[in-house]
Amino acid sequence: MLQGLSGPPLRPLGGESRGEVGLWTAKDSPLMSPTDPSRAQRYMEIALEEAAEAALRGEVPVGAVVVDGETGEILAADGNRTEELRDATAHAEMLVLREAAKVHGGGRLLGCDLCVTLEPCAMCAAAISFARIRRLYFGALDAKGGGVEHGPRFFDQPTCHHRPESYGGIDEIRAAAMLREFFKERR
Ligand code: ZN
Repeated sequence: MLQGLSGPPLRPLGGESRGEVGLWTAKDSPLMSPTDPSRAQRYMEIALEEAAEAALRGEVPVGAVVVDGETGEILAADGNRTEELRDATAHAEMLVLREAAKVHGGGRLLGCDLCVTLEPCAMCAAAISFARIRRLYFGALDAKGGGVEHGPRFFDQPTCHHRPESYGGIDEIRAAAMLREFFKERR
């Protein structure tokens, strides 16, 4: 049932402006060790499960996970909780960054990677940068609210002092379908 990584090659984000050229494919993923090629897919699988649980709670279905990039340990996994917490900043990424910081013992998550089902908004992109996340993997692109490949393009700004390696399009079909379904039911 896994899609995405077996589909079209993932896109390196930013292209030549970031000194990266050519298509990035799943097997090139720096997140994956040669002995465990399904690792990144598994993280996105967990993020998608969190997104599905968020939908059941009536939240916009976005899920995220923070992983220790060296050990592969899951430090935090959660979905959107803006309704439940009555907190406009309770996006999945913000929640997992906060939780992971508690587990990791510091606000800076050096060597950690974040997987999220949707392109982060500007707020979350800033938080990801401040937390010093090593690699960002995300699912669906978000032309309306995204802040990485769209809108403010936070990581591309000269005022951004830490830019994670970013890869989009992982399982984007499933992530986008979940969001479409959610908003269709709400109409
Ligand atoms: Zn956000």
